[in-house]
Amino acid sequence: RAKEAGRNHFCFYNAMMGERNYADLALEHGLRKALRQQDLFVVYQPKIDVVSRQWVGLEALVRWTDEQLGPVSPAEFIPLAEKLGLIEELGEWVLDEVIRQMAAWPQQVRIPVSINVSARQLLDGQFAVRIAKRLAAYQLPAQRLELELTESCLVLGQDSTQKTLLRDLRAQGIGISVDDFGTGYSSLSYLRQLPLDTIKIDASFIRELPGNREDAQLVWAIIGMARALGLDLVAEGVETAAQATLLAGLGCCVCQGYWLARPASADQVAQWMDEVGPEAQWQGFPDGWEP
Ligand code: C2E
Ligand code: MG
Ligand code: MG
Ligand code: MG
Repeated sequence: RAKEAGRNHFCFYNAMMGERNYADLALEHGLRKALRQQDLFVVYQPKIDVVSRQWVGLEALVRWTDEQLGPVSPAEFIPLAEKLGLIEELGEWVLDEVIRQMAAWPQQVRIPVSINVSARQLLDGQFAVRIAKRLAAYQLPAQRLELELTESCLVLGQDSTQKTLLRDLRAQGIGISVDDFGTGYSSLSYLRQLPLDTIKIDASFIRELPGNREDAQLVWAIIGMARALGLDLVAEGVETAAQATLLAGLGCCVCQGYWLARPASADQVAQWMDEVGPEAQWQGFPDGWEP
């Protein structure tokens, strides 16, 4: 009996494993195929100064819709690409695609575009050089490009090679942002040593504003710290006018989130660019908006 139960248990376990492995394999197979066939695309989300109404930037976000699985979130396939050693290839594709797209957009609106970069991409000794060449090929000034690195990715690669790479990029004129700020473990002294331009306050600190006093105080502290370090600020995940009002009041005027605009196709961005004109005044505010 015990033996039988054991065997049953074993079979059950095996079936579970099989099922999970199958889902993993389907995802892996799909991602490899998508990369091979360049079956990915990029959407762009604006960053807007809610006080001056200036459109200050765009963030590039990769998308993948699998034939069988449907749309897969980057929160799922980026970690998988990292695990499978495909992130360098994926990152290269995104970089190429974004730079190509930037060159194709109407040139009267010259706002910078940021790209999310994974820790492993920073291990590539040729990273800075390749970006420079790519920009030059499309005659785009390096100031038009920014890189977003998560706080954990910066802490992870806490060594001199990474600092040198960041300095190289910065020396070219490429902006460096700390993404998801407040969710990692970076120390003030460490942040001070890095060549950074911008801190992006993680959406988790914004979500319960304006009601959550503790979060409001944390955001206030982050804003003060960014000021002390001479860094620019962006608030992520701004979904309501009340959040934008509070953030602007605390001194973080640049917001990104569904309240302003959802990530949009390259064509949609081109249309926005036509609408805003060279002054880049964002037209998407609700009527009567006043910070
Ligand atoms: P992230 O860089 O922090 O990007 C912000 C995420 O929040 C995006 O999710 C965006 O669509 C979403 N978002 C923007 N506004 C709002 C809002 O108001 N409310 C809510 N609930 N969400 C909002 P997405 O596009 O699913 O990307 C998830 C993460 O995947 C990104 O977080 C980034 O870490 C990573 N990722 C995306 N594209 C790339 C890429 O090309 N390369 C790399 N290495 N990572 C990428
Ligand atoms: Mg980002
Ligand atoms: Mg973020
Ligand atoms: Mg995030």
